[in-house]
Amino acid sequence: MAFVCDIQIEGDPEVAPLKFCDALYVVADERQLVAFAPVVVWCEVCDSFQAGESPDSPEDIRKHIRDAEEGTFQGVANFLLESPDQIRQWAAYWQRQLTCRLVRQSPPKCLCCGSTAIWGLDERSPNSFVIPSSGKLAALSLTFDESAVDKRLRLYTPEGDLLGEIPRYDPCNNRQFDDSTPYDVVMTMLRTMGL
Ligand SMILES: [Zn+2]
Repeated sequence: MAFVCDIQIEGDPEVAPLKFCDALYVVADERQLVAFAPVVVWCEVCDSFQAGESPDSPEDIRKHIRDAEEGTFQGVANFLLESPDQIRQWAAYWQRQLTCRLVRQSPPKCLCCGSTAIWGLDERSPNSFVIPSSGKLAALSLTFDESAVDKRLRLYTPEGDLLGEIPRYDPCNNRQFDDSTPYDVVMTMLRTMGL
C-alpha cells in the first residue's frame, strides 16, 4: 500500500509528507511472515510524527477469525470475500495475526526508533492532533498515492524490533516481496544485504 500523510503544524508554512512503508513481522516458530499496517503516531523520542504500531487485541483478531469461519464478516470483507478460497485465505491471514499477537509482550512502538513513548491519534478526530511537547495543533490528511510507494520493506520481530530492510522488488524472481513470499527467501535476502 502507498499511503502518505500530509502534516501541517501550526505556525509552520511547510507541509511535511510522511510516507508509509508496510511492515512485515517475522514469527520465528511458525516460520511465517505476518503483515501489519502501520498507523500515524507522535513519537516523543523522534520528536515528530512517524509510522507506528497499533496492534489489534487478541479478542478482536479472534472475532475476525470467527466471522470468517461463520461468514458473518461485514463491510469491505463482505464485499471482497466471494469464493470459499478467498474466505479460507482471510481466516488464515487472521490466524497468522493471532499467532504473532499472542507472543507479543511490548507495548506499541515507533517503527522508526523503536520507542514505546508514542501517542496514537484519536479515532474520533484523526485529522487533528495537539503535539504534547509544544501544544501546537497539527492538521493531518491521509491520502493514497501510488507514486509514493516506498521501495523498501522493513522486517521486524514480533516484538516490533527492526531486523533490517530489503528492496520491495525482487529482480531475480521478477516479483514483489510481501507476506506471501516464503520466509526463507526473505531471510536469505536479508543476509545477502549483510544483516
Ligand atoms: Zn521514534
